[in-house]
Amino acid sequence: MKIPNDIFEQLSDGPTPLYANHYLNANALLDQIALRLCSFIERSGARALPVPASQPLDWKNFRSHLPSRAVANAAGLGWQGKSLLIVTPQYGPRVRFVSVLTDMALEPDRPLDNRCGSCTRCTDACVAGAIRNVPTRFHYKRPDEAIDLRKCADKLINEFTRRENVQKPICGICIKVCPWGRKIGKGGAG
Ligand code: SF4
Ligand code: SF4
Repeated sequence: MKIPNDIFEQLSDGPTPLYANHYLNANALLDQIALRLCSFIERSGARALPVPASQPLDWKNFRSHLPSRAVANAAGLGWQGKSLLIVTPQYGPRVRFVSVLTDMALEPDRPLDNRCGSCTRCTDACVAGAIRNVPTRFHYKRPDEAIDLRKCADKLINEFTRRENVQKPICGICIKVCPWGRKIGKGGAG
């Protein structure tokens, strides 16, 4: 699901109440879409399991049921950027995902080659100094190769969750600055 551009354009040093609200709404809508899709798939005779759009189970080790970003990467929707975000050719990282696991017969796409190139915008803008500016072709073997997860989590959990009317471990700055998201309506990724 594409998130409206101006939600990100309003960010300056971290999350706003507006972003926090739409983050929740987008996740709820994605979960509904996944449930409806599962009903459709089951009616066709195949199995279907919806994986929540955002339900961290273990904050200490950054684990969820199954990371939607990894699924999106494997499904060829985008490449894993230096920020660990999935960067789509159409909307950059200004998207949220939900996953449905199924045994339905589907034609698979191939993963996309990484197109970050020499860009350092997320590294330069990271409010925690957490992004290491390490390139990869398809995906990182471990998240820690790309990002100092402790620094990022410390910023989100210990600072941004305390912001009035935010109260969620979200940030949005590396999403905002990615040129693949900012190119929309501006004639190129720059
Ligand atoms: S979410 Fe924020 S703190 Fe974490 S890597 Fe992105 S910009 Fe840095
Ligand atoms: S800001 Fe640049 S380096 Fe970071 S994910 Fe986007 S394209 Fe890749």
